This record gives sequence, C-alpha cells and structure tokens, in this order.
Amino acid sequence: MPRFAGPATFARLPRLDEVARADVAVLGMPFDSGVSYRPGARFGPAHVRASSRLLRPYNPATGAWPFADQQVADAGDVALNPFDVREALDAAQTAVTALGADGTRVLSLGGDHTLALPVLRALAREHGPVAVVHLDAHLDTWDTYFGAPYTHGTPFRRASEEGLLDLERCVHVGTRGPLYAASDLEDDARLGFTVVRADDYETDGVARAVERVLRRVEDAPVYVSVDIDVLDPAAAPGTGTPEAGGLTSRELLRTLRGLAGRRVVGADVVEVAPAYDHAEITGIAAAHVAYELLGLLAGPRAGSAR
Ligand code: MN
Ligand code: MN
Repeated sequence: MPRFAGPATFARLPRLDEVARADVAVLGMPFDSGVSYRPGARFGPAHVRASSRLLRPYNPATGAWPFADQQVADAGDVALNPFDVREALDAAQTAVTALGADGTRVLSLGGDHTLALPVLRALAREHGPVAVVHLDAHLDTWDTYFGAPYTHGTPFRRASEEGLLDLERCVHVGTRGPLYAASDLEDDARLGFTVVRADDYETDGVARAVERVLRRVEDAPVYVSVDIDVLDPAAAPGTGTPEAGGLTSRELLRTLRGLAGRRVVGADVVEVAPAYDHAEITGIAAAHVAYELLGLLAGPRAGSAR
C-alpha cells in the first residue's frame, strides 16, 4: 500500500479495537470551545492524522522504533460537547482514565489547550502531582477570560490550584510575546513554573535549554504538553494565537529528544487549526512532534538510544 493510501488513522496504525491492548493510544480530542482568538482546532486531530502518513518506522535520531518497541494504536476521537466546556472536560478525563486503567498511556491530539487540564486530572489521580514540560509561546496560567475559568489560556493555573502539579518540577519552554502585565510572570512563578524563553535558544542554544529542562524535571513523572504555537509562525501558521519569534521545528524536535530516558506518563500536541495552514506545514510539524512524543512514551528502556 503506498503511504498516501490506506487507513486514515495516525501513521496508519491499527485502531485500538483491532489490537488486544495498547501500550500507547493516540487519542483525538476535537474541541475548540476554549479558544480566545482564532477558532478551528476542533479540526486538528483529523489534520494531524492526514499529515502523519509519511512517518516511517525507525527514528535514527534516537535509535527508537516507536511503533515496534511498544504497541501503539489509534483510539479514535473522544465525543466532546462543543456547547458545554465542563461536560467536555469531564468526558476527556473519563476517556484518559479508562485507557489508563488498562495500562495504556495517552498521546492526545488537540483540540485546544483547555484539554491539558482533564488529562492532568486523570494523571494526577494515578501518579500524584506530576512535572509538566509545557512547550508554548504562551504561559497558559492566566486566571479567566470574560469571567470564564476553563479556557485554553488557563489550564495550568487551574491544574496548579487543584494540586495536580509538582510545583518544583514544572517548566515552560519557548515562551515569548507580549503579556497583559509584568505580574503575569510573578503569578506564573508562584503557580510552580520556571521559564526557558524562546530567546534563550538564540543566546544559549538547544543543549543548554534541554539541560535546564532536565534539571527542573529530574526523575519525576512528567507530562509533556506541546502547543504547536511554540513554533515560529513560519513553521506553524495553522494555529489560533500565533506569535512571532518562535522556535524552529528542528529546535523543537531536538528539545523533545533531549527528554529521552525520563518518566513520561502522558503527552499532547494541541492547537493545530488547519483552516490557517498552508501546504500541511503545521500538520507535518505536529505529526513529527507526535512521533517524537511516542518515542518518549515508550519509556527509558525502549526509548533511549541503543
Ligand atoms: Mn500558545
Ligand atoms: Mn497553549
């Protein structure tokens, strides 16, 4: 079968109902009722799946065989109510919890970043407070928008308030762009995060950025959350709140590879909004991010170089 044909699942993987069990499930979360600017991330899962067809089995950068070292399957999409954010968040949490009960780790394809909150709720029940490596142009620790507490700009403040985060082990990567006030950064630090700015990649390089992330996370169970807008709009135009001055796709992929050997208990790639994409630029970037995340979810044994 040529790679442009065959199943519409992520990387043409089997569906979850076609395998006895899965170590990792790719789970679509088509939901964008939490966005504050450009809508459209509800179409992200289908777009990332379509852009993932060319992914090949062996990752020479890490020595991983992400689809052979573990059973990976596509769990389809969660049914998320677009008119009731709280109900949608509950449904997302239930889906992740159900998969976790079978020992299946989840790679979520968003959908907007609101969805990190229900996943963290599910993971914290299982592991206790987790470390978060949050790659994003934005802090996503704001309080409310128009009085609404559950939005794509607020998931990590809610997670911190709910005790889901290890406050000594969380870090933002790729942060840049204007804020509402300088106090945003003070609030953010209080909520448990340090910051590796996008500009730090220019001044200090990728290796130093990775070193700072690893020192922060240590050996805690870690959730890796990738808002595709961490990339420069040149590398990811198809997203809801683009900011100039972002990472290259090469810097992002190298940063993710730097997490090999850590205890990654869940991951997401969110905020892909295909209506603003061109030539699959954003979809392809997201598919490759997902591929690296699958390698990390294989764990230290299979995911490290060999
Ligand atoms: Mn963002
Ligand atoms: Mn975000």
